[in-house]
Amino acid sequence: MVTTVVIGMLCVHLFCFCLMFFLISTRLNGKKMGMEVFAAGNLMLGLAYLLQLFGGTRHEELSSIVNHTLTLCAPVAYLLGAMRFFDRPVAVLRPLLTVAVGYSLAQLLVQWLIGVEARHAMLSAACALLFSGMALIAFHGGRSFARDLRIEMWFFSLLIAGICVLNAVKFAMILDQGLAALDLGSNFQKVFYLYMSFLATVLPPSAVWLVLRRLTDRLHALAAHDPLTRLLNRRGLMDRLAQHFLARQATPAYLLIVDIDHFKRINDVYGHKIGDLVLRHIASVLRSTSRQGDLICRQGGEEFVVIALYTDRDGALQLAERIRQGIEDSNVPGTGLAQPIRCTATIGVAGDLNGEHSLDHCLQQADSALYRGKAAGRNRVEWAEPVREEQGSVSGQCGRQTGSA
Ligand code: GH3
Ligand code: MG
Ligand code: MG
Repeated sequence: MVTTVVIGMLCVHLFCFCLMFFLISTRLNGKKMGMEVFAAGNLMLGLAYLLQLFGGTRHEELSSIVNHTLTLCAPVAYLLGAMRFFDRPVAVLRPLLTVAVGYSLAQLLVQWLIGVEARHAMLSAACALLFSGMALIAFHGGRSFARDLRIEMWFFSLLIAGICVLNAVKFAMILDQGLAALDLGSNFQKVFYLYMSFLATVLPPSAVWLVLRRLTDRLHALAAHDPLTRLLNRRGLMDRLAQHFLARQATPAYLLIVDIDHFKRINDVYGHKIGDLVLRHIASVLRSTSRQGDLICRQGGEEFVVIALYTDRDGALQLAERIRQGIEDSNVPGTGLAQPIRCTATIGVAGDLNGEHSLDHCLQQADSALYRGKAAGRNRVEWAEPVREEQGSVSGQCGRQTGSA
């Protein structure tokens, strides 16, 4: 009786979460993060338990064969759903149908050759093997492809290992006691279905939590990046700067404003689309010339900001010169035009950036250096003038420096 009630509750859980996964998947445009496959997995497992409830103890009937096939296909669906969640574009229908047909045939064959006990033992053995594989993948995932979800993955691994052990015990019991081991009144069956019910309660909300984490991470990334170049935007730059200056060993940084020369002309002559290609190209030059860890931002239009961390005045000037040269020397790829497009940029450099609060001040300094560079003929690196404060002291590492043009 207790086990029957537990299985009934299990069905309710599985169908409710099936509906929830399905509804979530309808709200996710494009990437559904495997939610629709999890919904299918829950539906199959829910149907399997319904058959268990209404199929009674007539284990040899067709309903039992269908029940076992659904029971095995459900974890396969969860596995495929998890792969989709981790951005592996796997097919779902064909593998599931293959498993369903293959396992149904295997059941018929085993029952015909060895008997009904062997068919039940086969399901427990297959589930134990499948779940042990899943537990290992989840554990490995926490150390490799899903390091950001390490705690969650290890939690899943532990829970799945529990089902694996229970199925292994069930397999041994069927071998030992035959169909008597499947008596729903037995203590083992109570423990088995209570554990399944516990999993059906804990795992789906955990899966929803993972989706929520991924969605909020994606939202943060969207809010912090420029969609055209994938560089940081101003807001992202402020956040990363704040993070940087939280570190105790953080030293003052150097700020470069990179402004493409005569960009309006490029737009006017070649069109806005080619203009966008040029912006992407400049972004890639900035990425490849900067050091890992430097902050690169598109502040708007054709103006970029690079913040050089853990360097000195010479290092910052060398970086600016590398960028200037890199832009001057490279063709914009993918334009489809007969003649290659090249452009140049002027760069204003300022130092003494010692917190996100001094960003505006440094931007102003670098901007006036940039303005001078433009006036002096463009395609240049210009160092910011020292700023005299009220008492006449000199702030920042300043002093005019003009790079080569
Ligand atoms: P200077 O050498 O003095 O910097 O001249 P400039 O033409 O580069 O500068 P100006 O400020 O006159 O023009 C900037 C142009 O950038 C004007 C605007 O249409 C264009 N622009 C701004 N944002 C985008 C964008 O996202 N895509 C494209 N294609 N063009 C943009
Ligand atoms: Mg410009
Ligand atoms: Mg500009």
